[in-house]
Amino acid sequence: MSKVLIIGAGGVGRVVTQKCASVPAVFSEILLASRTVSKCDVIAKEVGQGRVQTAQVDADKVPELVELINGFNPEMVINVALPYQDLTIMEACLETGVHYLDTANYEPKEEAKFEYSWQWAYQDRFKEKGLTAILGCGFDPGVTSIFTARAAKHHFDALHYLDIVDCNGGDHGKAFATNFNPEINIREITQKGKYWEDGQWVETEPFEHRKELTYPNIGKRSSYLLYHEELESLVKNYPTIKRARFWMTFGEEYLTHLRVIENIGMSRIDPVKFKGLDIVPLEFLKEVLPNPGDLGENYEGETSIGCRIKGSKDGAEKTLYIWNNCSHRAAFEATGAQGVSFTTGVPAMLGAMMLLTGKWKKPGVFNVEEFDPDPFLDLLGKYGLPWQEEVGVDLEL
Ligand code: NDP
Repeated sequence: MSKVLIIGAGGVGRVVTQKCASVPAVFSEILLASRTVSKCDVIAKEVGQGRVQTAQVDADKVPELVELINGFNPEMVINVALPYQDLTIMEACLETGVHYLDTANYEPKEEAKFEYSWQWAYQDRFKEKGLTAILGCGFDPGVTSIFTARAAKHHFDALHYLDIVDCNGGDHGKAFATNFNPEINIREITQKGKYWEDGQWVETEPFEHRKELTYPNIGKRSSYLLYHEELESLVKNYPTIKRARFWMTFGEEYLTHLRVIENIGMSRIDPVKFKGLDIVPLEFLKEVLPNPGDLGENYEGETSIGCRIKGSKDGAEKTLYIWNNCSHRAAFEATGAQGVSFTTGVPAMLGAMMLLTGKWKKPGVFNVEEFDPDPFLDLLGKYGLPWQEEVGVDLEL
């Protein structure tokens, strides 16, 4: 029985809150706090039965966070605000002696760049305090890294080739919308691509590499090589990996809109003067795009995210595909959220459960593949994300 503080009341926060509320034996009391408290109140009302308390907090400010945490006295914080808040929330956890979990690595607001160095730098301080920080416990990063840990533990003596494949085969009926925070999403996908090969990073132009990959229950989709944060920790934690890449599907319509957004300067993250005010074009664009949290209602189709791995077992080459498919409609019916919020929120709740039940509790800062994958994967299906694996498949890569 533990108290948990959830920070962030967006699409992911909604799923995390609902899922935590459904397991009172672990999450006995829940406080949902965010910048706009009315959004927390809507979620608390959806959950009902007075299970969720709400509060306002500016998570950019450590003293505000410390006051909030001390007032509620939780065992841990689940951070599902934005990557910009990771370090302030980690600081507040250290100051108050509280465990930490997030779903996306830190990114400075003024530069579209993400890497783990900033958060790994907290290793010694969390260790000294006997606190656990779990990094990247959504789907990707998150479940994809845990799938990789399962492959290493149960299927291979050495992992050699890892391709993480992320397909959204869904259709929300809008001309253009992003499936999670538009600002974070557009910053991520307009960056140069990068993959790991033979001990070094190889940089690519955005969308330079495309492959037609076949996804279970969806079919063939154009998949583009992107840099994604879990690659950084996976190649460090599995040094036998010779090549690690990340692929994501995009439709022609999406890419055309994105090209226009970039060409007309709306993806800029530096301030421009508008009627005497400093505005950041991408922040303004976010305000006029559909809210990802509201896409669920007419969203048809499925997501399919997994790992395609080649390695060695008992001296022979072996291949493995391990994946989850999630229906947007089923996610909406269960939580009122679309599939991408659902596939992120369920693992965040489950990671928190692993920590609070002592299965993933050790002092320091860890990426999810550094824990035992078995107790997590044993429960993932039960909470809405059943997964499958197949050995000896053609990986298409
Ligand atoms: P949303 O934009 O829908 O929600 C973010 C929430 O954080 C909003 O409620 C927002 O408040 C709140 N917030 C922002 N800044 C602050 C602040 N300074 N203080 C307090 N609260 C703040 O995003 P999503 O729910 O789509 O995504 C949440 C997180 O999940 C992101 O970090 C995203 O990168 C990550 N993610 C991870 C995935 C994975 O698989 N690992 C996949 C998808 C997302 P307000 O409502 O006032 O704006």
